[in-house]
Amino acid sequence: MTNFSATKKLFSLPDGMTYLDGNSLGPLPIAAQDRIAACVRDEWGEMLITGWNKAGWMVQPRALGDRIGRLIGAEPGHVVIGDTLSIKVYQALASALELRPGRKVILSDNGNFPTDLYMADGLARSLGQDHRVVTPAPEDVADQIAAIGEDLAVLMLTEVDYRTGRRHDMPALIRAAHDVGALVVWDLAHSAGALPVDLSGANADFAVGCTYKYLNAGPGAPAFIYVAPRHSAAVRPALSGWLGHDAPFAFDLDYRPGDGIDRMRVGTPPVLQMAALDAALDIWDQIDMKDIRTRSIELCERFIAGVEAACPDLRLASPRNPETRGSQVSFHFENGYPAMQALIARGVIGDFRAPDIMRFGFTPLYIDEGDVNRAIETVTDIMTNRLWDRPEYHTRAAVT
Ligand SMILES: *Cc1c(COP(=O)(O)O)cnc(C)c1O
Repeated sequence: MTNFSATKKLFSLPDGMTYLDGNSLGPLPIAAQDRIAACVRDEWGEMLITGWNKAGWMVQPRALGDRIGRLIGAEPGHVVIGDTLSIKVYQALASALELRPGRKVILSDNGNFPTDLYMADGLARSLGQDHRVVTPAPEDVADQIAAIGEDLAVLMLTEVDYRTGRRHDMPALIRAAHDVGALVVWDLAHSAGALPVDLSGANADFAVGCTYKYLNAGPGAPAFIYVAPRHSAAVRPALSGWLGHDAPFAFDLDYRPGDGIDRMRVGTPPVLQMAALDAALDIWDQIDMKDIRTRSIELCERFIAGVEAACPDLRLASPRNPETRGSQVSFHFENGYPAMQALIARGVIGDFRAPDIMRFGFTPLYIDEGDVNRAIETVTDIMTNRLWDRPEYHTRAAVT
């Protein structure tokens, strides 16, 4: 059983802060500070260009990918890191579409994160093959798969809805999509490090995700991509960068895709961010995702019960059944923005998602019952005494 009071000590959390926003940006692993400093001083500073070989910078994207792979049920050798999640969405979708020529529909849902939908739209436009992006309500996706049938090229979904925490039934949707001959791209932005994922067991085709949310690798940390072994020799990378080439240092003028997942690399990897990711994964290497899930459900249930008992104006936006919920809890409240600002002013950090959602992430590595109790008390005080209704809490910042 994971010792969560020990893992909490591995993070730098400011005194007096209850951080319920690790679903947006994970906190700093204490060891990352020295790891990054050492990378700067001993590797960049001392080795300079030889660091690519001597410090292993060039092979790290695969090694780090495999450590993430363990958390998401990927086969070893089929995950690589790099770029940002938006780029990885584009890559996965482009490859999947190419494997299903002639089919015209990209099916997603209207709860998906906008960048995923924007990337799909942009890709469809540049392909110029009349692809349509269809976005029903999340609960209607299964019916749509059947209705679209053989015109469905790719089902592209985020497993856990960033706003409500609603979780799709991954194995069932993969089966349904495969039944009509389509491929599936999963965005694991709110799954990796949040709950157990079994890509291999669910027969997934493609998956992508980021490392700065639940995985705690810091702002701007690279994304990851998974391609199932059965597709890895067939996919053609749309972003055919030199580091995805079979022999980057042959400097051939013609592109020849690298072996397996290596072809999903694009350009130079972010070495300093990889140092932070390495330190963050040192913590994850010790963790059983089943323990995370059990604990996350306990914390979420405690928060929901406490808030609902004391704050009738907050309406649960997340599924009530923990099985169909990710590792976050969201409430609707028409004054959600100022209420969240009031909470942040008191050291309880969640965030706000338009139009009216107050969102709280529960991350067992560093959040315990004491934090949940404090959050409930603070929410209760702010709601019962209308402390949110002050002019300074109503001014919107650029990042909400
Ligand atoms: C956070 C998030 C993103 C962010 O993409 P970046 O390119 O890393 O900025 C994309 N998709 C989903 C579903 C997310 O939750």
